Amino acid sequence: MKRILTGIRPTGKLHIGHYLGMLEQTVSLQNEFDTFVMIADVQALTDNFERPKSVRENVLEVALDAISSGINPYKSTLFIQSLIPEIAELTVYYSNLVTISRLQQNPTVKTEIAQKRELFKHSVTYGFLGYPISQAADITAFQASVVPVGEDQIPQLEQTREIVRKFNSIYGEALVLPEARVIPNTRVKGLDGDAKMGKSLGNAIFLSDTAENVSGKVSSAITDPAKIRLRDVGNPDVCTVFEYHKLFSENLETIADECRAGDRGCVMCKRDLAQKVNAKLEPIREKRATLEPSEIFEILFEGTNKARTVARETLDVVKQHMHLDYFKAA
Ligand code: SF4
Repeated sequence: MKRILTGIRPTGKLHIGHYLGMLEQTVSLQNEFDTFVMIADVQALTDNFERPKSVRENVLEVALDAISSGINPYKSTLFIQSLIPEIAELTVYYSNLVTISRLQQNPTVKTEIAQKRELFKHSVTYGFLGYPISQAADITAFQASVVPVGEDQIPQLEQTREIVRKFNSIYGEALVLPEARVIPNTRVKGLDGDAKMGKSLGNAIFLSDTAENVSGKVSSAITDPAKIRLRDVGNPDVCTVFEYHKLFSENLETIADECRAGDRGCVMCKRDLAQKVNAKLEPIREKRATLEPSEIFEILFEGTNKARTVARETLDVVKQHMHLDYFKAA
């Protein structure tokens, strides 16, 4: 079985954007691949270094969200990044293989630095600039041959591939060259029409929301501002609710036609959407209700132990190739 690695940043409860963009895919891929799911707390600290308690609390939250969503601990290895020190050691060795200007030119890093201008003020930290190196260590520590990525993350994986090629050419073939498995970009807009759904923005539907929460949130979503009365004609192309119907409804054409003809009221349209979102979330809620925190800890403990064994084997091979295996040498 080929191995796949995917990561979740513990920066907040997971929302439907995470589910549609990543979790749903991983749940189906775990039947096909030896799947490693990393809770990336070290990476989360690169831009949350002032909030370590919140990162820690969210590790349990995201693990609960992931398992409720169908990540099966019998099929997937769920583990905590900071408990695998081999990743940190690999990061140090790989940092010799990447120039600072290459990191600065990485399009994903450039975009993220621009988005986090408030955090970094005029100068970005060494840890954040270097996180693509740590990501290369994450992937190669487990010799993952496949990495699911969105279109916007392809440059990140390319950076890992460059590091692997350079390592193998200098020290000899030790690392598996990972391939991208491009997953369709399902970037979910916020309910307020904002391009991004986020906890701090108050515009997200969380996997842990109750059915009532979801209905309440959907009823406050932004619609076509020109459609005020039930019989007004509307324009679904400028309506956030319709954006969500694209993700949850099959009768899109009917919805759009009825909206344009003034045969569909926004209240009913939102109720229809809330029902569909709730139908999607119901199995996740049911599973969540059966899980105890002690069970989640146990799954993380077992997964982390297994992941550490694999990472240790990789590190041994890497050090052997770099002639750093002092007391093992003949
Ligand atoms: S009827 Fe539906 S699609 Fe049309 S504007 Fe209202 S909420 Fe949006």
